[in-house]
Amino acid sequence: MKPLTTYLVRVGELTLKGGNLKDFEQRLVQNAQLFLDGTGSHVRIRAGRMYVRVKPEFEEQAEYALFHLIGAAGWARAQTVEHSIDAITKAVVIEAEKAATRGCKTFKIEARRSDKQFPLTSYEIARITGEAVHQEGILSVNVHTPDVTIMVEVREHCYVYGAQTPGHRGLPCGTGGKGLLLLSGGIDSPVAGFRMLSRGMKIDCVYFHSWPYTSEEAQKKVEDLAKILASYGLGTHLNIVPFTRVQEYIRDRAPHAYATILLRMCMMRVANLMCEITGAQAIITGESLGQVASQTIENMSVTNGMASYPVLRPLIGMDKEEIIQKAIEIGSYEISILPYADCCVLFSPKHPVLRANRDEVMHLWEELKIDALLMEAFNAREHKRFGWHAAVKST
Ligand code: ATP
Ligand code: MG
Repeated sequence: MKPLTTYLVRVGELTLKGGNLKDFEQRLVQNAQLFLDGTGSHVRIRAGRMYVRVKPEFEEQAEYALFHLIGAAGWARAQTVEHSIDAITKAVVIEAEKAATRGCKTFKIEARRSDKQFPLTSYEIARITGEAVHQEGILSVNVHTPDVTIMVEVREHCYVYGAQTPGHRGLPCGTGGKGLLLLSGGIDSPVAGFRMLSRGMKIDCVYFHSWPYTSEEAQKKVEDLAKILASYGLGTHLNIVPFTRVQEYIRDRAPHAYATILLRMCMMRVANLMCEITGAQAIITGESLGQVASQTIENMSVTNGMASYPVLRPLIGMDKEEIIQKAIEIGSYEISILPYADCCVLFSPKHPVLRANRDEVMHLWEELKIDALLMEAFNAREHKRFGWHAAVKST
């Protein structure tokens, strides 16, 4: 039988979490196990390190899991060797050779020894193994800006590894309550969802659909975005609420300039209902202050009035470039830039109300008497569930 492949995972912020540490660690392990369910893998955490051991045929799945595991700060595939300096040196030379084939020219060794029974100090381990790499002429030493840092960890077992892959950091999903994300087909809302996922929140999604003004493709795009979020959040529920009649109703009965703000208020109202039945504790949107004309603090404060749950806007202080960067990183950007319009683009006034006066808007809202129609839309919602592997299977 082939030996198991070991991944060493650096655990991000968990080290800061004092009393909650055990719960957070346990959740991280459980989340990793969910990704690897059915593969017979071992996951455990010890002294701030997570160890994932998988059969070689599941390496690809393990690497997918580690890329998507929020709470992992970085990880590396490690060689596990005996507690002897010869075995360690051999493994270090192998890592140096691998680094050279990747194009690295310089290296340094970082050794850690938590097993104090081991007869050599960290410094001696680094010196001996470094010398061997140097003598073989594989790489040259550069202690300040090396192309690769080869790590030696002498613990209960000895681990040697080279290239580390950075993880997404954050807190393990499931430790921060549950939020309801207003997910549109744009660039911003998936990133907003991801940011809350990486604070440990579980996320459900709601999309307001205006078929036939918006296409089936627009909905498919939102489903694909929900799958991306599901891949980090260990699954998600997408609620699709038909909003065509709501939009038509607003168009026919309210002053045109107020259409956008009234529509936002309607979305918030329905999101609030959704929280009541799903147990979500907060509403999340992808708004960023001033990004578009309608995203003013006045308008946000009016829409807040429609919700009895906290409204989280994790992108509020981010600029578009930063948001795009994150969208690229998490894999949502390519989907978001597909051309299908989401419902807000239609019926949009050329000159929307920028700084809604609360009394004025509330007066219009009362006149509109839209509650029954919103309830109807809410009751007609469609529900889809995506598992963490939905994004993999659809590609
Ligand atoms: P995004 O890129 O997320 O679509 P945006 O820059 O297009 O945002 P708006 O259209 O003003 O901005 O939407 C602001 C927020 O309102 C979105 O980030 C999203 O949270 C929510 N939202 C807008 N349209 C919808 C929709 N059709 N369904 C669900 N939520 C929506
Ligand atoms: Mg949008």
